[in-house]
Amino acid sequence: MALRIDVVSIFPEYLDPFRHALLGKAIEQQILSVGVHDLRQWASDNHKSVDDSPYGGGPGMVMKAEVWGAALDDVAAHTGPAADKHLVSATPHLSRPRHDALQGIEQVGYPEHSQADERPLLLVPTPAGTPFTQADAQAWSNEQHIVFACGRYEGIDQRVFEDAARRYRVREVSIGDYVLIGGEVAALVIAEAVVRLIPGVLGNRQSHEEDSFSDGLLEGPSYSKPRQWRGLAVPEVLLSGNHQLVAQWRRQASLQRTLERRPDLLDSADLSAEDVAFLQTYQQQRSKEQ
Ligand code: SAM
Repeated sequence: MALRIDVVSIFPEYLDPFRHALLGKAIEQQILSVGVHDLRQWASDNHKSVDDSPYGGGPGMVMKAEVWGAALDDVAAHTGPAADKHLVSATPHLSRPRHDALQGIEQVGYPEHSQADERPLLLVPTPAGTPFTQADAQAWSNEQHIVFACGRYEGIDQRVFEDAARRYRVREVSIGDYVLIGGEVAALVIAEAVVRLIPGVLGNRQSHEEDSFSDGLLEGPSYSKPRQWRGLAVPEVLLSGNHQLVAQWRRQASLQRTLERRPDLLDSADLSAEDVAFLQTYQQQRSKEQ
């Protein structure tokens, strides 16, 4: 079943990247269908205003509940200005089969979480949300309808989400500890991470199970031809043809990189006794060198 994504924004043109590259190709393959909606269609005054000053004072403007409420009603029901909106891909994409398809590897998605609740998932990008993770991307790659509410200014009147919880499952999510100008880029970030995990978009599940975060660790470095480039050589073991040694080197490179850059991830990673021994030896070596 295809995933339907609806995005509501006051800058619909900002969402044009949905039509390109793998997202555009997923639209062509009918794995994905996308509707982008201009919030101002639901504004009722002559100036099509979508924001007002905040209660309690303070700087900036807050996006109005009446406008967002009407937009989210229509988007959930595919009615009014939200009916029959479908982005088309920017350019025809190559329909060459991917390596996995050529090798006859079965496409397998992530396990569906038992979801008795059929309400669409409303994702609200906000720096005050819970952090978006790869585990969220895996879970949401099974959704049938995701709606993004892209805020601007100081954000959206909070009552919009309390009210939306009657017809959506609502999640306020942050893509990182920094503040963007609007939610559009965050919506694209989340959509890319989710859509690439749908079977048939990127290839087989195996091909992204080695990505950073999928096993709780960062992925190690990658190399391609030529063997020597500007005096720099590819690690010898990768040329050995010995799959076991290559796998061991990759695991250790991944552990090493995670320890150096994101040691916090090691606390919850699934580590074997061999992994732990490698990390201890590596740490001892490092402390001797310092
Ligand atoms: N006043 C808000 C706060 O301090 O939490 C910041 C509003 S920000 C200027 C405007 C919009 O950008 C937000 O409504 C949200 O849609 C988006 N945004 C900014 N930073 C974000 C982040 N780290 N993750 C997700 N969305 C973000």
